Amino acid sequence: MAVTESVSGGACGAHEGILRRQSARESAARTYARALPIVPVRARGLTIEGADGRRYLDCLSGAGTLALGHNHPVVLEAIRKVLDSGAPLSVLDLATPVKDAFITELFHTLPPGLADRARVQFCGPAGTDAVEAAFKLVRAATGRSGMLAFTGAYHGMTAGALAASGGACDVRVARLPYPQDYRCPFGVGGPRGAELAARWTESVLDDPKSGVPLPAGMILEPVQGEGGVIPAPDDWMRRMRQITATRSVPLIADEVQTGVGRTGTFWAVEHSGVTPDVMVLSKAIGGSLPLAVIIYRDDLDVWEPGAHAGTFRGNQLAMAAGTATLAHVRENRLAERAAVLGSRMLSQLRYFKQEFSCVGDVRGRGLMIGVEVVDPEGEGQAGVRAGGATDAYGQGEVPPVPGPGPGPAGGPTEPAAGPRSPGSPRPAAPELAAAVQRECLRRGLIVELGGRHSSVVRLLPPLTISDEQAAAVLDRLADAVAAVSRGLSRTAGAARTRT
Ligand code: PLP
Repeated sequence: MAVTESVSGGACGAHEGILRRQSARESAARTYARALPIVPVRARGLTIEGADGRRYLDCLSGAGTLALGHNHPVVLEAIRKVLDSGAPLSVLDLATPVKDAFITELFHTLPPGLADRARVQFCGPAGTDAVEAAFKLVRAATGRSGMLAFTGAYHGMTAGALAASGGACDVRVARLPYPQDYRCPFGVGGPRGAELAARWTESVLDDPKSGVPLPAGMILEPVQGEGGVIPAPDDWMRRMRQITATRSVPLIADEVQTGVGRTGTFWAVEHSGVTPDVMVLSKAIGGSLPLAVIIYRDDLDVWEPGAHAGTFRGNQLAMAAGTATLAHVRENRLAERAAVLGSRMLSQLRYFKQEFSCVGDVRGRGLMIGVEVVDPEGEGQAGVRAGGATDAYGQGEVPPVPGPGPGPAGGPTEPAAGPRSPGSPRPAAPELAAAVQRECLRRGLIVELGGRHSSVVRLLPPLTISDEQAAAVLDRLADAVAAVSRGLSRTAGAARTRT
């Protein structure tokens, strides 16, 4: 059928046929495929070519998996080398030269303080499996059972991970406020909001009547990704380290999405200088193939043999691709590149807040960037401050660069300095965000949506993205937001005419 279609109906026929069969045969639970009706057939770097013959700039990057973009030559070479060597491809958790090289390279990158005393556990290939392993590890090490997690967190889709992400589940997880500036739950934002969040955590731990017994561990993302691209302030990270250390609660840093240079340092905990007790790693460490591990301090290594097992813990191709990726990011200082380029993109994106009333906030760290879409007609949330104090956290974000120079898509030459107006953030606008995503796709740009209300347009480009490609991404995004804004103005105009 596909062959007939591609012969008689051409590329577009094949594309449509595949999509039609997908919606007829695949699960209702499918996700990205709904918002992104494309059929990738070839890919290189930032670019995907679809079965429709179109080319797309891919800022989804396998949900942050592709640190080096699609099919990077060093990754392909590493995979071919293993294939040509006759090495076994699946080896459970047996030792192999490929695995040995991966561990050596991984340990080379670890934050000081953990590197010297690190142990690694190979988990099932998904990030969520590594989260489960981390929970088991700290439970065994502390003899305690509950976990602390944060509002807006995402740690995966298995039972324990889902509970820590706010899903319904019977694993005991106490949820604490994650500091956020734009929609600060305390209505103040900035360092004061983060301080209040930290105090809340302290009081939950120290109040014998809080209902939360001393937990087995605390899990946090240094930058919440799926939660809407919310970087944790460095001071707050250090407070969490101090609060957990003084109470002998192991701190688990979930770096599944933030790791391997994504946020501007090799691991995102490096921004604050915090050394976690456990790190959960997946996505980019497998160089585009499935791989997940936990890294932890050796004194926690008291769990029993087989405490966390699984068949697919020995993917040799993923380990080889991962070794090549980690080494390439380290040797080519791609984390620094992500910091510089990410800052530049953020400062250019801040024009959007001035230019488009449906853009409420722009934030991020390194090449993990979010644009929050809001309802321009909606009432601001009472008592919640519209943020703009992110720079006060010392996030490494540069303030808008003053002086001449056009903004993306012919934007104003003078960038916005801080929030558009004081007051409160407007309601999140998931439909508008989905419209922006669709308009992006029409312009050949793939973006993800995230955030509590799926109203944050997310950019996760590969660390190898060039300046020219970054400019093209911002141009297309600006164009897409402008198209959605024009539609809004037309709708508002028509409503005014009717009344
Ligand atoms: N932890 C974080 C921070 C994530 O972003 C994700 C996935 O996006 C996971 C865990 C779960 O990883 P996986 O989807 O591979 O199970």
